Amino acid sequence: MRRYRLLCCVGFAAAVGRYSEAQAPQDPTAALLVDLIRVNTSNPPGNEGAIAELLAPRFRALGFEVDIIPTPAPGKAHLIARLKGNGSKRPVLLAAHADVVGVEREKWTVDPFAGVVSNGYVFGRGAIDFKGGMAVFARAVMLLAERKVPLARDVIFLAEADEEGALPYSTSWLANGYWPKIDCEFALNEGGWIIKRPNGRVQYVSISTADKIPIGIVLTAHGTSTHSSMPRPDNAIFSLARALARLSEHETDVKLTPSTRQFFLTLAKTTDGAMAEHFRNLTSDDPELVRRADRAISSDPLLHAIMRNTIAPVLINGGFRGNVIPGSAEATVNVRLIPGTDPADVLREIQRVVADSTVDVRLLASPAAPVPVSSDTTALYRALEHEARVQFPGAEVTSYLFQAGTDAGAWRSRGVPVYGIYPYPIDAEDLKRMHGNDERVSIESLRQGTEMIYRTLVAIAGRR
Ligand SMILES: [Zn+2]
Repeated sequence: MRRYRLLCCVGFAAAVGRYSEAQAPQDPTAALLVDLIRVNTSNPPGNEGAIAELLAPRFRALGFEVDIIPTPAPGKAHLIARLKGNGSKRPVLLAAHADVVGVEREKWTVDPFAGVVSNGYVFGRGAIDFKGGMAVFARAVMLLAERKVPLARDVIFLAEADEEGALPYSTSWLANGYWPKIDCEFALNEGGWIIKRPNGRVQYVSISTADKIPIGIVLTAHGTSTHSSMPRPDNAIFSLARALARLSEHETDVKLTPSTRQFFLTLAKTTDGAMAEHFRNLTSDDPELVRRADRAISSDPLLHAIMRNTIAPVLINGGFRGNVIPGSAEATVNVRLIPGTDPADVLREIQRVVADSTVDVRLLASPAAPVPVSSDTTALYRALEHEARVQFPGAEVTSYLFQAGTDAGAWRSRGVPVYGIYPYPIDAEDLKRMHGNDERVSIESLRQGTEMIYRTLVAIAGRR
């Protein structure tokens, strides 16, 4: 085992030497991304303060006001860099999380923290999620300063801590303590996608205007606690297993928001053959057509998720020794709600499906206040939509419901519209690697994304 590890390390070192030195990327966004990847911010612990230290002098040199906000956790900090405008309009914010998820190092073919450049791609943990986005956002705002673009509003860049998971010093913590530093008219964040076809052309650009809302539901089965040599019919573990089996066979109804409706109609326009028909039928009033479309479309787990509330058991707990039947057994179910869904309705739905009075179904915590969906009529949304069309001629642009959660809630919950985008064209193969192995983003995609975001900023923050 140890020898295997050692060999891996030698392999990584060779890869670093071969690619990074010989082919240091000329593109400034790719070069910045390489630097960001080389700071290992796997969370826990995150160590996002090191990203703040890396970026602070670069922003200061360009005339940004820079604040590093330390958190109570050692090494964990947020960075706020503000480029001042004349104040005639309210600020625009670009937010990017600095932490990344960990890696299964032995499954990578390159060192995930070396910033390896190969074949026109930058490889490394966070290349897509979201150090690539951080590099694009940072370079776009730096370009405003380098080109001395006169600004009507402040442009704020934020490198945040604690996004990857429900963590204590996230943007919610930052917003509670430092709101005046990140208050803005609207903001950009991670979220939607620029999806590339196999031929390299962009199929569509989706801009997220809302995230699905996660809630926890706990199922607790009760039975007689007794000696395992004399089993009874009311075994709590069997009851829990039956409840989960019923849930596994249950499918929630299709529930489209205005965003997802627009998204599926966009897919219909940019897809050929029978699937185009299914995408169109999903938005129809005929329940049978919707059912058939749902079945066909749901083979894609992402599309399945954005058109319904999803139910996924994630934790299970029961029993404490080998010769005791426990008096209870518990499963935690992660439910992702379509915005506008009342959690109490889903709770009742699960109770109805479980249909067992010995199994309690309850919310893990009281649900947070509903977060408003961001309007797709603001100047920022319109500018990004326009620049996406300019950057990727022929591509459709649509609003989108992000299937997971992001750190946008800190702003959206305070009424600030947030628009999510992973600002670089990616294909299905790239997408599969996000949070997986050999994560990568193409240098050409980074270049295109930086141009698009820069022009969006000039459009909404530049003085005419
Ligand atoms: Zn992310």
